[in-house]
Amino acid sequence: MTVSFQLSPEQEQLKLGARRFAEEHLRPLAADVRKEPDPFSRALLARPAFEEAVAAGFLKGLIPAPFGGTAGGGVEACILIEEWACHSPDFVISLAGPLIALAPVYEAGTPEQIERFVAPFLADHGAPVAAMAFSEPEGTANFAAPPPAEGLRTTAVPDGEWWVLNGRKAWASHLPGWDGNGPDVMTIVCRTPGGVSLIVAEREHLAGHIEVEEHYDLPGLRGCLTSRIGLHDVRVPRSNLVGAEGHGVRLTYDAFWATGASIGIFAVAAMRQAFEVAYHYASTNTRGGAVPIIEHQSVADVLADAKSRIEAVRLLAWRALDAVIAQDAAGPELALHAKIFGSEMGVEVITRLMNVVGVQAYDTSFPLMTYLSQAQAYPVIEGSNTGIRRRQLQDLFRTPGYNPLSASGMA
Ligand SMILES: Cc1cc2nc3c(=O)[nH]c(=O)nc-3n(C[C@H](O)[C@H](O)[C@H](O)COP(=O)(O)OP(=O)(O)OC[C@H]3O[C@@H](n4cnc5c(N)ncnc54)[C@H](O)[C@@H]3O)c2cc1C
Repeated sequence: MTVSFQLSPEQEQLKLGARRFAEEHLRPLAADVRKEPDPFSRALLARPAFEEAVAAGFLKGLIPAPFGGTAGGGVEACILIEEWACHSPDFVISLAGPLIALAPVYEAGTPEQIERFVAPFLADHGAPVAAMAFSEPEGTANFAAPPPAEGLRTTAVPDGEWWVLNGRKAWASHLPGWDGNGPDVMTIVCRTPGGVSLIVAEREHLAGHIEVEEHYDLPGLRGCLTSRIGLHDVRVPRSNLVGAEGHGVRLTYDAFWATGASIGIFAVAAMRQAFEVAYHYASTNTRGGAVPIIEHQSVADVLADAKSRIEAVRLLAWRALDAVIAQDAAGPELALHAKIFGSEMGVEVITRLMNVVGVQAYDTSFPLMTYLSQAQAYPVIEGSNTGIRRRQLQDLFRTPGYNPLSASGMA
């Protein structure tokens, strides 16, 4: 059997449809977001485009078919993310909340939980949001560390038919929802008497029990609603525990494989945009010399190296997300490579492309700084490369029987 990297007619259609949507809705949104100084008002600007995306079926496209959605494979997801993230990666991150928050439900939820928690995201109107409440303001990388380390601090205490949750969460998109009363679904990583566990809170449990401490003011992904919140006496039915008590560490790591792999494609989107700007600049500007600057070998070399890296990261991310979504055993390792290598290439490539343009690149009204500040997020979000992702690779390498050729299928 041959492996084809050519887009099928359906994938071509998806690419063109996603590009049309992005040009119509996300390009103007990104321009408005750049101008709005207040982080909360900025995040609210996305709501009309969000509703358009839901009505056009894109949210349902994040839900796997066995659970009622229309999600395709990993390559399809990469095509959509790249086209949208070129204009507004923050919009994609906000819309993609269910991808992480519902992953543990698919993996370990009961049929009744799956039906109840997925239902809001099968809608074809409105703006339903989901949050994966994992990160905490006092630290996240050591959430599973045994005592004497403090690890995860949010607690859920049983009280008759209820869990009572208290703690503080940070960073996850849409923790407060659109109105401060919470998202439709919040998957909360917390400590129960049985260990680290996952409990899903629905909006009715969250309303009135969320205290917004701060909305973060991000330099790059400016339209993301990322906040620090307090959870105060959130009462959730005992039946909302997902999987068994104490299984939360594995379920949490598993929830982030797909989005980890997708970071490679987010980095590609930023690099692709930056390359286009630098290439155009080099092809059309002489900067007072006799020829366009692309005629200088040193400039052309930077462009050549940048392009090689963009192509390499795109292929790696396609392969990684395809493996994760197909539940191939190679998925976790490939997702880690796409996350770490992709995100670090993003920063390196865009920084080098700024040297092609020269000092003008350092003007915020010139677009390269926007792409750089987006790319700078990717090594530290979705589990920082240092605190979480490289440690996961180290764990894989230490697994007895680990075969370095397995991930590539060459064992
Ligand atoms: C736009 C955006 C969206 C986000 N979405 C979500 C989301 O949906 N859900 C969510 O829960 N979070 C989300 N986050 C947070 C993000 O995923 C972070 O990557 C996560 O909080 C982990 O941060 P950290 O690895 O820096 O951990 P921290 O615990 O803050 O660690 C900080 C640093 O300490 C060092 N460190 C700590 N412990 C170790 C160790 N044992 N070994 C080596 N180094 C160590 C590392 O250098 C690490 O980078 C989002 C953030 C942003 C900006």
